[in-house]
Amino acid sequence: MPRALITGITGQDGHYLSEHLLKQGYEVYGLIRGQANPKRPILERTLPDVHIVDGDLLDQASLMNVIQKVQPDEVYNLAAISFVMLSWNQPELTGEITGLGALRVLEAIRLTAGASGSRSKSAAGIKFYQASSSEMFGKVRETPQNENTPFHPRSPYGVAKAYAHYITVNYRESYNIFACSGILFNHESPHRGPEFVTRKITLGAARIKLGVQKELVLGALEPRRDWGYAGDYVRAMHMMMQLPEPDDFVIGTGETHQIKECAQVAFERVGLNWEDYVRSDAQFMRPAEVDLLIADPAKANAKLGWKPEVSFKQLIEMMVDSDLAVEARAQAASA
Ligand code: NAP
Repeated sequence: MPRALITGITGQDGHYLSEHLLKQGYEVYGLIRGQANPKRPILERTLPDVHIVDGDLLDQASLMNVIQKVQPDEVYNLAAISFVMLSWNQPELTGEITGLGALRVLEAIRLTAGASGSRSKSAAGIKFYQASSSEMFGKVRETPQNENTPFHPRSPYGVAKAYAHYITVNYRESYNIFACSGILFNHESPHRGPEFVTRKITLGAARIKLGVQKELVLGALEPRRDWGYAGDYVRAMHMMMQLPEPDDFVIGTGETHQIKECAQVAFERVGLNWEDYVRSDAQFMRPAEVDLLIADPAKANAKLGWKPEVSFKQLIEMMVDSDLAVEARAQAASA
């Protein structure tokens, strides 16, 4: 039975990737940080088949211990400070976790697996996936963006991801580690953190419908994003790891929607007009906005046979329905 180690197991993608790999017959290990991480009991309840291992991307020794103990076939490095807005407030920590964290996982693999030998030796070793991001394109040099588009990140998050991306390429070239990156565009789901704009909108629409919130305050409404469904994107991660040679892939839908379109679909789902409830406030706007990020996923289509299956409208409606159900249960419990 193949073994996978996932960092960032308590995050959105950790959830969907675990489910996907368990279905594929993997033994799944999830790295969790912190002595009293409040997400541990949630993880134990929602994904009881995942083996929890303790470690932190800030702590090299803990990662080496975990690699030695688990002896994984595949390592998916999903852990990060992933919220772009937070990265301006905590740029150093973002660099440490989102950037150098990837290096520490790669070092743990290199030092514990002896992957510095020939290609055949590394092929028998540990494969590594890095969660790269479209935020690395930032102030875009071309539209749409593909694997050859130069990076120009516009946030401490994007800069840290660019470091993690290049160190992944470097360890592939230097040590023959099977190391690949998925340059993923925005992907969402009912498990998306409530600080992210899509979830803020779907939760807001549900709460306004149920009468527990009066208005929804967002940042800029005009920016466009290439949004897909997280469940579709974790399939691409796994596909990349099954290739004979490691490579990097852009993963996105190739279509964009404005933030206000997301609000429109979400409020329509609950029978309301978004313009009656949503307002924009500069405090939620980015100091430096990215340009039009739109994926050219042609390489993933051709080489992985990957295509997204859930449309933008289906995605937003799925999130609203889930938020309505969760909020209604919370209301019933407190009544
Ligand atoms: P997420 O929900 O924010 O999850 C981040 C995970 O990282 C959490 O499990 C968090 O653990 C963990 N983490 C943070 N600091 C850590 C540390 N020091 N040591 C160990 N774990 C740590 O992110 P996501 O949406 O699932 O995204 C997964 C990855 O893909 C991230 O690297 C993200 O930057 C990248 N990405 C995401 C998107 C997207 O649209 N979702 C697009 C491109 C790239 P705690 O629960 O303990 O905080």
